[in-house]
Amino acid sequence: MSVRALRSTFGPNCHWCGLPMDFDAPHGRPESATIEHLIDSTLGGVRNQKHRRLAHAICNHTRNEFRMQAEREFQRWIAARKAPSKP
Ligand SMILES: [Zn+2]
Repeated sequence: MSVRALRSTFGPNCHWCGLPMDFDAPHGRPESATIEHLIDSTLGGVRNQKHRRLAHAICNHTRNEFRMQAEREFQRWIAARKAPSKP
């Protein structure tokens, strides 16, 4: 599903913040529309067109940043949990 098709299905607003996106060239600017791949494990983790939405490049990027941060924090927590307790 292309950006154009997603736009006609879901409208011109960002999936995350609900604000209008910029569909004009050049693409790749913070307010540009990008395709967000929603991979929801509760839905079987299958990547298909039902899980595609449009979002600002900046919203998409920031979401990924936060998710990576959360993963790093979790890994630190796991490492601390596995480490032997200090005397
Ligand atoms: Zn947005």
